[in-house]
Amino acid sequence: MRDIRVDGWRIYWRGLRCAFIAETIPGMLYKEMMNALGFLAKPYFFRFQVIPGFSTVSELMAEGLPPKEALEEYARLHGVWGRGKAELVEADLDKPKVVVRIHNSSITHWFMENVKNIKAEFPFYDCSWWGYNWVGAVKAALGEKGNGVPLIYYSTHCSALGDDYCEFSVERSYRGEDPFQNVEKEYLQLLHNYKSTTATAQPPSGNEEIWEFINRLEAGSDGVVKIGRERILFVEGGMYSLAQTLLPTELFGGVVYGAYIKAHVDYGRSLAKQGEKYGVEGVLDFFLSSASSMGWGKLEMVKFEDPEVVFRTYQSIYAETAGHYIRKKGLTRRPVCTYGWIVEGILNYFAKVEGKPPFICREKKCIAKGDEHCEFVLSRQSR
Ligand SMILES: [Zn+2]
Ligand SMILES: [Zn+2]
Repeated sequence: MRDIRVDGWRIYWRGLRCAFIAETIPGMLYKEMMNALGFLAKPYFFRFQVIPGFSTVSELMAEGLPPKEALEEYARLHGVWGRGKAELVEADLDKPKVVVRIHNSSITHWFMENVKNIKAEFPFYDCSWWGYNWVGAVKAALGEKGNGVPLIYYSTHCSALGDDYCEFSVERSYRGEDPFQNVEKEYLQLLHNYKSTTATAQPPSGNEEIWEFINRLEAGSDGVVKIGRERILFVEGGMYSLAQTLLPTELFGGVVYGAYIKAHVDYGRSLAKQGEKYGVEGVLDFFLSSASSMGWGKLEMVKFEDPEVVFRTYQSIYAETAGHYIRKKGLTRRPVCTYGWIVEGILNYFAKVEGKPPFICREKKCIAKGDEHCEFVLSRQSR
């Protein structure tokens, strides 16, 4: 993690805005997406995971690494960033065919711990997020040669289905399926020169809290990074805002959006359940401060009363990246952040315990629609 840069409440790896995330969040989100969309979770949601893989390998290529070395470096980072120890088994960029093997694959690990019978519940299960991620990586490594070459992955082994590791073979798709459909490579390449500094309202510098968090991480040589019992991943968080929120909802609307909200509310509830003995304020404080120190922006409580709770986010990773994309593409300006739903889940866990009506969250201000910071208002529903 030595090549990470911290600027205010933002974390960068090279030119990419990044963040740390507990494995549980993508775990719950991906499970919810598969529950809601079934097999269609792949074309509607998971395929956009080509974006982070593509962005990172493009950065490595832009530094002058030859394609194969860029992929090898990406495999190394896979382990350093807590996603599982990855190795290239084959890398033939002329064919093209790239085979990557991942031990201790994260998120996969969450499914193994939390879903009893994966095959029965999700017959199409194959760790799509890592498969598509590597499709993106290979696409970037192919450079100009990759234009017009639709790539797809085949999952040949999967630890969630009983193998010792997950293995993906990225190859040309002869049926013409192209996960890059509707994904603008030109835009992603342009992003490399873009530094997210659109927020003007600046709270005090966050460097210290972020570095304290990084210093608490326990990293093994097995591609596993942890704090206590929770696995932590380092992700291209800015790119996730495009891959997981903006593009799927832009293209497929409410179908994806509803599942997305539910997954975040459920995550908030599970945090509240775990921390019930600390009370609602204790859990909220834990969530706001840990999200801040993990690079998602500075989350700050403004008003904590009944029936209204207000909090703000400065330098939101979602809003700054998605906002940039929205402006470039001339899309409708709208709020894009996810933090409010998690807080809604926390408040409503306690509301239920107390037998009171639930809160509903609205993101009233968002950097993505031109505001100085993001502001979430949670109001208790009247009986
Ligand atoms: Zn797998
Ligand atoms: Zn926002």
